[in-house]
Amino acid sequence: MPVERTLSIIKPDAVAKNVIGDIIRRFEENGLSVIATNMTHLSAVEAGRFYEVHAERPFYGDLCEFMSSGPVLAMVLEGKNAITLNRQLMGATNPQEAESGTIRADHADSIDANAVHGSDSAENAAIEIAFFFSGLDLHSH
Ligand code: ADP
Ligand code: MG
Repeated sequence: MPVERTLSIIKPDAVAKNVIGDIIRRFEENGLSVIATNMTHLSAVEAGRFYEVHAERPFYGDLCEFMSSGPVLAMVLEGKNAITLNRQLMGATNPQEAESGTIRADHADSIDANAVHGSDSAENAAIEIAFFFSGLDLHSH
């Protein structure tokens, strides 16, 4: 399995619930390393740029408002099969459909306040990592 990098975001709802540590523990216990972090508070315009692929979706406005409602923790995760592994640890977008033991099953309240973001492909991981980080900020270990 290839070593990959992926972007994870702990969303405003999970930051507010004080479960940053629990989420990062799950990544580390499953073989992913945190190689960059950035706690930031996105503006609605910045959230809109990040989620531009969803601009035509009916939930886009609410999504941008939610993602700019409080601080988030953006991270780069590195490890074997990191993109798919992170998506598995996250669980389904709708927490009611998320497998038990996943981050969203345990910490998400609804399909919009769903605790975490994770890149869905190698192409998007590269774009999303570059949105938050420069190459100088990535520290493999
Ligand atoms: P994921 O975050 O699992 O990759 P998507 O890329 O499909 O999911 O959607 C991006 C984000 O938009 C979701 O995490 C969720 O916060 C929000 N979202 C997706 N679908 C809906 C929906 N039907 N209603 C409200 N918000 C949604
Ligand atoms: Mg997505």
